[in-house]
Amino acid sequence: MFTEGEGMKIEGTISGTLDVKRFYLPGVTIKDNCPKCGVELIKDFSNGEYLSYPTAGKPEKIHFWCEECDEEWSGEVILDINLRMR
Ligand SMILES: [Zn+2]
Repeated sequence: MFTEGEGMKIEGTISGTLDVKRFYLPGVTIKDNCPKCGVELIKDFSNGEYLSYPTAGKPEKIHFWCEECDEEWSGEVILDINLRMR
């Protein structure tokens, strides 16, 4: 017979590179406007876009390329992962 654990504790923080080649983020999109022509670009992280071997808590570069005017730029995001007691 199983009983519910009592006094279970989670310790530590998630660190280091995650061994995930394609880390998708279902439900997440990142939008930005081209700094040159102003067109809106959308990166859909549940469809096609992903973080490659991300490290939790460390900045990851997100690259944009505007096909209207051939402008390239980047921004940074931080992947926070939390494990908590239910
Ligand atoms: Zn542009």
